[in-house]
Amino acid sequence: MEISTPNFIRTIVAEDVNAGKHGGKVITRFPPEPNGYLHIGHAKSICLNFGLAAEFGGYCNLRFDDTNPSKEEQEYVDSIIEDVRWLGFDWGDRLYYASDYFDKLYEWAVQLIKMGKAYVCDLSAEEIREYRGTLTKPGKESPYRNRSVDENLDLFERMRKGEFPDGSKTLRAKIDMASGNINMRDPVMYRIKHEDHHRTGNKWCIYPMYDYAHGQSDSIEGITHSICTMEYEDHRPLYDWYLDELGIHHPQQIEFARLNLSHTVVSKRKLLRLVNEGYVSGWNDPRMPTLAGIRRRGYTPEAIRNFCNRIGVAKKESLVDMGLLEYCVREHLNKVAPRMMAVLRPLKVVIDNYPEGQEELLDAINNPEDPNAGTRKVPFSKVLYIEKDDFMETPPKQFFRLAPGREVRLRYAYFIKCESVVKDENGEIVELHCTYDPATRGGDAPDGRKVKATLHWVSAPHAIEAEVRLYDYLFVKEDPNDVEEGKDFTDYINPKSLEVLKSCRLEPSLKDAKPGDRFQFERMGYFCVDSVDSKPGSLVFNRIVTLKDEWAKIQKGKK
Ligand code: ATP
Ligand code: MG
Repeated sequence: MEISTPNFIRTIVAEDVNAGKHGGKVITRFPPEPNGYLHIGHAKSICLNFGLAAEFGGYCNLRFDDTNPSKEEQEYVDSIIEDVRWLGFDWGDRLYYASDYFDKLYEWAVQLIKMGKAYVCDLSAEEIREYRGTLTKPGKESPYRNRSVDENLDLFERMRKGEFPDGSKTLRAKIDMASGNINMRDPVMYRIKHEDHHRTGNKWCIYPMYDYAHGQSDSIEGITHSICTMEYEDHRPLYDWYLDELGIHHPQQIEFARLNLSHTVVSKRKLLRLVNEGYVSGWNDPRMPTLAGIRRRGYTPEAIRNFCNRIGVAKKESLVDMGLLEYCVREHLNKVAPRMMAVLRPLKVVIDNYPEGQEELLDAINNPEDPNAGTRKVPFSKVLYIEKDDFMETPPKQFFRLAPGREVRLRYAYFIKCESVVKDENGEIVELHCTYDPATRGGDAPDGRKVKATLHWVSAPHAIEAEVRLYDYLFVKEDPNDVEEGKDFTDYINPKSLEVLKSCRLEPSLKDAKPGDRFQFERMGYFCVDSVDSKPGSLVFNRIVTLKDEWAKIQKGKK
């Protein structure tokens, strides 16, 4: 696996290991809530947690923080397991759920009640909010705050037994309603929800709040370094309070900035809206920044890990340009994806002087970057397809490709020269007539004459037909989270994020391409066989990324 670049968290961990803290052990965890699919931001956290553990000879757990049955589903659990594995990480037999700890958490709640540190409160959710105060105004104590330990024990027990309706009571920590940190103003520990849980079924009708469950779950697992994103910084004093009051193992929490990526959103709430409101075809739509989406699109785990390593880890939030992610994808695919020829918008070409019925097999190089990739045979015949864009009837100065009277090279084949153009009744070009020079077989002229362009092509009778889906950014705005007054982030959706090309022509070696296979279509980009819609005999390809390196341009512009 890749070697991680130094960052402030790695430095802290290295120092702890050297100092023999936690017995020199490093135990981390990745703790998703199963209320949505993982996205590229989660990948940053996964790479960091699993990466540090691996680097320091420790291990990393996968734990579902499944404390809210109303939003959580088995589908999300399954997808998360698949995605973390796909990224290349292994949690061994340490797959845990916060719900495994419900009994223990309940016991600890009883302990806090007995210590006079927790009480049952009858205020409604709205009243609790009112009583909580604001950043500038201290909170007000609940009238139920001073219930006796016995009364609290009795009420909490009856809450668990299901005697009270949803929302009628909560268990709250008794901390400080005047605290400068709102999280410390008697936060709710348990709420009543008469709802089945995806794992515990109907065993419970009270559920712990995330903030009550998270730190203790880490503690139970003996986590040494509890790494999380910045929004938990203000919750840390609360986690500390629970751990210290209970006197249990105290992991060290370290916060880092979330990843934000340009031209997309990485909030589960927003992604869920895109899915539910039909802006995309699902969580795995190839335009989504979810791991399921980018996997289907054709991004590789290697590229994503490399990206996560490159963006580094800091405390300050920033917006990472999508160009960098695409650069990493291209960099990897350039090494591993075989080159093929595919014509996305076909224009028919007839080689007038090529013998009728003749065909020949020409040698093509599979990947110039990989000497072991070898060569393959590509059939050539009298009727071919080239890319529509590679021909212009009246070319402007900078256009060097095919035009009437002009000669170009067909990759691995011959020089051809355009002799005439056939148009339909609307004046649209439907066919070109060309001649070829048999002496240029393989792509070079023995007399040394040069051409200014090399085009890709396919032989018409041999070609297979396929659908190709081209993608653009899902949002036109660089930061769609930055929403102007009166607008919604969905107002920035790119109406042209998907273009479907139905009758592309591919060289026949692509016939047996399997879902998930990745190729470079010469001059057109990197493509992946769609894992949902592609079928043998009717292939569907996704464009993973173009060949144009936008990132290099961005970097140049910055200098
Ligand atoms: P929600 O928006 O529902 O709170 P979340 O995005 O925080 O969800 P979790 O399931 O709570 O998702 O996240 C699991 C872990 O991934 C957490 O430790 C969280 O800090 C981390 N994480 C989530 N989003 C990002 C991000 N954009 N960049 C880096 N880490 C992230
Ligand atoms: Mg979260």
